Amino acid sequence: MSEVYYNYVDGDWVESETGDTFEVVNPADTTDVIGGFQRSSSDDATAAVEAAADAADEWADVPGTERGSILTEAARHMADRTDELTETLTREEGKTLTEAGAEVQRAVDIFEYYGQKAVDFGGEVKQPGSRDANLYTVEEPMGVAGLVTPWNYPVAIPAWKSAPALATGNTVVLKPANGAPNVFRKVVECLDEAGIPDGVVNYLTGPGSDVGGTIVDHDDVDVVSFTGSRSVGEMIHEQAGANQKRVQTEMGSKNTTVVMPSADLEEAAEIVGAGAFGVTGQACTGTERVAVHQDVHDEFLEELIAYADGLEIGPGLEDPDMGPHFDRDHLEGTLEYVERGRDADGTLAYGGEALEGGEYDDGHFVEPTIFTDVDSDAAIMQEEIFGPFVGVMSATDFEEAVELVNDVEFGLSTSIVTRDHAEANRFRDAVDFGIVKINEKTTGLQYYVPFGGMNASSSETFREQGDAAIDFYTITKTVYEN
Ligand code: NAP
Repeated sequence: MSEVYYNYVDGDWVESETGDTFEVVNPADTTDVIGGFQRSSSDDATAAVEAAADAADEWADVPGTERGSILTEAARHMADRTDELTETLTREEGKTLTEAGAEVQRAVDIFEYYGQKAVDFGGEVKQPGSRDANLYTVEEPMGVAGLVTPWNYPVAIPAWKSAPALATGNTVVLKPANGAPNVFRKVVECLDEAGIPDGVVNYLTGPGSDVGGTIVDHDDVDVVSFTGSRSVGEMIHEQAGANQKRVQTEMGSKNTTVVMPSADLEEAAEIVGAGAFGVTGQACTGTERVAVHQDVHDEFLEELIAYADGLEIGPGLEDPDMGPHFDRDHLEGTLEYVERGRDADGTLAYGGEALEGGEYDDGHFVEPTIFTDVDSDAAIMQEEIFGPFVGVMSATDFEEAVELVNDVEFGLSTSIVTRDHAEANRFRDAVDFGIVKINEKTTGLQYYVPFGGMNASSSETFREQGDAAIDFYTITKTVYEN
C-alpha cells in the first residue's frame, strides 16, 4: 500500500469529501508508486475558497515585515530539505537530479526574494497640489488568488505564483497538476512549519475541470493565475474575464533559435541542444525550431547530431543528461509527430524511436529527435510538441530567419547565436516574442525579471515574476490628504 496524502485547507491536512484518491507514479519506473492523492470535488474546492476568503482581511492587515518573515522562514525550511525536495521532484516528474535541484533552488530563491519584497513594496509619495496637502499611493492586495499550475515545473511555477501573492497580502487557493503534486505539497508543509496562519494557503488536488474550474469560477476569487496548455488557458481566460476577475494565463509556445554564420557552430549546437533536449524538451520555453543560415546549415546539423548522440538517457534518479517523458501520452504524442514529420517529407536526421529494454522497460523513454528539410508551415514546425524534438530549417539571410521566428502563432522565447552585436539588436527589435535571448538557449529564466509571452502564448495582460508579479496581485489606491 502506498502512502496517502491530504489536501491542506484552513490550516489542516484533510481528506476530500469524496473519500477517493488517485495514484501518482514515477515516469522512469511506473512500478514505483509515489502515493495516493485526494480526488477532490467542486465542494472541496468551494470549502478551500471559503477558507481563503475568511482569512483574507486578517492576512491583509498583517504588517509586510511579518508576512516577509514567514516567507523567508519557509524558504529556510525548504533549503534544509533541498535533497528531499529534489528527489521528490525527480521521482514524480522525471527531470534529472541536476535539473530538479536547479528548480528547487529557484523555488527557495523565489520565497526569499518575495520575503524581502513583502517589506519593500508599497506606494509612492507624489507632489501634492498645495503645501498643506499630501498626495500618495498605497498598494492593496486583490483578495483571494486562485492559482492553477502545470506538471512540468511543479515547484517553481507554484512558487512564483504563490510567493508574490502571499507577500502582497493575498490568500491563496492552489491546484497543482495531478501528475506531479507532491513536491509543492512539501513546500506547503514548509509554509505551515513557518507559521502561515490558517486559511492563508490552501492546496488541493483533483480533476482540473472540477477543482480548477470551481476555483476559477468562484465569486470570492478575485485574481486568477493559470499556467498550462493553450486550450485550457484560453477557456480560463474567457471564464474569468466574463466574471470580471483579474486574470493571467501563460500557455504553450513554439520557439525558434536562429544560427548565423558568425557563430561558433559547436557552441551553437550546445545552445540549441540544451534548449531542445534539456528537461526532455518539456518546457514552454523549449527550442522546437531552428533557423540556420544556409551557408552553415550542413555543418551546424552535423554538430547538433553529435550533441544529441552524446546524450546519456536514463532514469532521472541516476542523473543522466536526459530523463524520460512525463507520461505515456506525451511519449506517444512525440512518436506521432515523428510520423507526421515523415508524412511532410521531412528528413529524420536523428532519433525518432522510443527506448525499450533493460532500464527503459518500465518508463517513458524516447530518443532525442532531429528533423530537417521541413517547411515552416508543417504541423511539426507549428504545433507545440513538448518533447525532445527539434526541426532545423535553412534561411537564405537574416531577414528570412527573422520571418521564420515570427511564423508561428505563439511568442514566448526566442534566441539568436551570432557574434554581430548590431545583428543581435536588430533581432531583438524584430521578433514578436516576450523573451529574447542572445547567445543563450531559449530555456532558463531569472525569477527577478518579468516573464511572459506574446500572441497565443500569453494573455499579455500582466507579466509574472519580479516586480511584475507585485503589480498583478495588488491594486493601487491614490490618497489625497488635505
Ligand atoms: P494543462 O493540461 O492545461 O493543465 C494545467 C493545469 O490546469 C493542471 O493543474 C490541470 O489539472 C488544470 N486544468 C485542466 N483542465 C482544467 C479546467 N477545465 N479548468 C481549470 N483547470 C484545469 O497543462 P499541462 O499539460 O499540465 O502543462 C503543459 C502545458 O503548460 C504546455 O502547453 C506548456 O507549454 C505549458 N506551460 C507554459 C508555461 C508558461 O509560463 N508559458 C510554463 C510551463 C508550462 P489536471 O492536472 O487535473 O489536468
